[in-house]
Amino acid sequence: MGCCHHYFTATEGGEDVFAVDVSSIAYGPGALNEAGEQAKALGIKRVALFTDKRLAALEHVAIVRKSLQNAGVDIAFYDEARVEPTDESFKAATRFAEEAKVDGFISVGGGSVMDTAKAASLYATYPADFLAYVNAPVGEGRPVPGKLKPHIACPTTSGTGSECTGVTVFDLLSMKAKTGIASRYLRPAQALIDPLTTHTLPANVVACSAFDVLSHALESYTAMPFTRRTRSRTPAERPMSQGANPWSDLGCREALRLAGRYMVRAVTDAADHEAREQLMWASTLAGIAFGNSGVHVPHGMAYAVAGLVKDYRPEGYPDDEPIIPHGMSVIVNAPSVFRTTAAACPGRHLEGAECLGADVRGAGDADAGEVVGARIVELMKPTGIPNGIAGVGYGEADIEALIQGTLPQQRLLKNAPMEIGAKHLHTMFEGALSYW
Ligand SMILES: [Zn+2]
Repeated sequence: MGCCHHYFTATEGGEDVFAVDVSSIAYGPGALNEAGEQAKALGIKRVALFTDKRLAALEHVAIVRKSLQNAGVDIAFYDEARVEPTDESFKAATRFAEEAKVDGFISVGGGSVMDTAKAASLYATYPADFLAYVNAPVGEGRPVPGKLKPHIACPTTSGTGSECTGVTVFDLLSMKAKTGIASRYLRPAQALIDPLTTHTLPANVVACSAFDVLSHALESYTAMPFTRRTRSRTPAERPMSQGANPWSDLGCREALRLAGRYMVRAVTDAADHEAREQLMWASTLAGIAFGNSGVHVPHGMAYAVAGLVKDYRPEGYPDDEPIIPHGMSVIVNAPSVFRTTAAACPGRHLEGAECLGADVRGAGDADAGEVVGARIVELMKPTGIPNGIAGVGYGEADIEALIQGTLPQQRLLKNAPMEIGAKHLHTMFEGALSYW
């Protein structure tokens, strides 16, 4: 595995410094009961509590509410966060945040809910035209001007890692494209991670979340080394997607081990609390890791796969409209992507496969892509993931549109270990049509 040891070799004009930015984290069964005291410690007297309609009726929200009330924190309640949010749903949440006159935010839910709270806090604090802060080239990519009000993020799925990152993702309806906003200032001040929340999740939600974790970890691990990025002139200019680095490697390797070991159990047996709780820890580790390295092509392609959805309606999700859940839209691309990117750093791909539980004995550089791709496919089958992008409704004829939907995701494509153009994307989408 020659390249691993030299992955962070200094390059002419390249970056020498990497940064570690992390939310404060409180992790463990019952952590949600701390919500009130944590809010008080952050100086919050009146909080906007964000969740979605389905979760609003569940006990996690009730626990957080009670804890806030016991601590004497006033609550402005918002349960209109949308699963797979849009610019419209972000704007509605912003109007709520403006009128609620709060001094902090608390989100209880999956990535969609946490991302909605991030966006509402941003636009309520620094009002601007909606596209101002959105990643270029879709938006203007204007930097977030400064600090936001404190945000306590309480994830209830073991996937997105949004509680640890400064990223918020949404569908821009007018362009039928998924895009996002990225800034250190969006990172929640405090993550409250309670693994008990995973016990009641539908199997398909567990599967999609677990594959999101797996891909965060493997993409971060195989991302371009930070030393190959052009040196930032100031610390403020250093992007959060700074590339693979020794810190993110730590979380990635352990997250991959846990995902490889517990994913199938957690999905196929709802009573296997150990497996589900371990996935929550894997999600946390991967979130901390990719929040400091960035992901790459599978997530870039996922934006197009999810954004152009036709009529796919997954089990376990609200069925009033077609959606491809985030983790699913990522993993249907992943085996094909890693089969291609392995050529750039085969050692890292083989190590990743080994962490996931693949037998890598006798495998050489030339086998790396196949070994890691096959291991992911081996995990997709028993967990009910659709067979490639054809399994979620796409065919050969859609590839051009999918490529056009991916190319604007330059922040992600540039973080790949090799240069990615339309030609590569064509190969990767073609290879992602079906796997078995
Ligand atoms: Zn993701």
